[in-house]
Amino acid sequence: MRLGVLTSGGDAPGMNAAIRAVVKAANYNNIEVIGIKRGYQGLIDGDIQRLTSLDVEEISDKGGTILKTARCLEFVEELGRRKALELLKKLDIDALVVIGGEGSFRGAEKLHELGIKVIGIPGTIDNDLAYTDYSIGFDTTLNTVLECIGKIRDTDYSHDKTTIVEVMGRYCGDLALYSALAGGGEIISTPEKKLDFDTICSKLRLRMSNGKKDNIVIITERMYDLQELQKYIEEKLKISVRTTVLGFIQRGGNPSAFDRVLASKMGIRAVDLLISGYSGRAVGVKNNKIIDVELENVNTEVNVKQDNYNILDVLLH
Ligand code: ADP
Repeated sequence: MRLGVLTSGGDAPGMNAAIRAVVKAANYNNIEVIGIKRGYQGLIDGDIQRLTSLDVEEISDKGGTILKTARCLEFVEELGRRKALELLKKLDIDALVVIGGEGSFRGAEKLHELGIKVIGIPGTIDNDLAYTDYSIGFDTTLNTVLECIGKIRDTDYSHDKTTIVEVMGRYCGDLALYSALAGGGEIISTPEKKLDFDTICSKLRLRMSNGKKDNIVIITERMYDLQELQKYIEEKLKISVRTTVLGFIQRGGNPSAFDRVLASKMGIRAVDLLISGYSGRAVGVKNNKIIDVELENVNTEVNVKQDNYNILDVLLH
């Protein structure tokens, strides 16, 4: 068997640890690995490199992805996928590991339908794939968010200020939710539990009347016009408010131990599945156990983690 591996969609810290595990597991089983550059674009352009165990020796602590990643519109079209299929055949690659998010998995599913053996590994900081408790990169990003919020908090405390902090997540509130669980914020608003402006103000007012003058409001990206929200709070509560968008600082950085271990376990499972003849499946983790599910069952539908919101009610009351 000859195995291809690629990273696709948004980069996530820990992707390199997954590449390492895939290459190591394949080589352990005498399977050659071809690294495909820039996601599906590399499958169309023939941008590839052979990966040996030596090539992946010291990559697991590095953020980003050594294979680079891209968004490839051509691959969404059937013609693009045909080109990719031809290249896979030409290179004698009969199995592929795709490390990426939901979009990348949709692409992987299409290749599976075309007869290529494919396994997906979830690499996305957003943690927006409902079938898995965690995706690779989420833990690292959560730690980065908490580090940034810690710095904001120092100055907020010193000046009795309130700050709105916008975090990533696309349409999933997990980064905001887990940040608040970890003590990073006093009020949170997520796509799963969206607060209107007045509710945010009344929560802030209550905290201020209880003597807490510095407050952090964590919100998920894409939910509000931030300037409008800031102005609304300022006018309603007669306080000055700051807004910080953490932005792309959240994507990079050395992966946490958790993400590296998770990526390693998932990479090994992906290769095991391919060796056992499985295809069209995505690896995940549920209740601390590595699992795999059919790619067609993977989606980003709203997944309200009610248990966690119940805990937040206690912590943030
Ligand atoms: P992510 O994998 O992080 O969710 P994207 O949604 O941008 O990122 O998807 C990454 C790539 O996966 C796209 O650029 C495209 O090449 C491929 N892809 C996404 N959706 C599909 C689809 N429906 N069919 C085929 N390929 C797709």
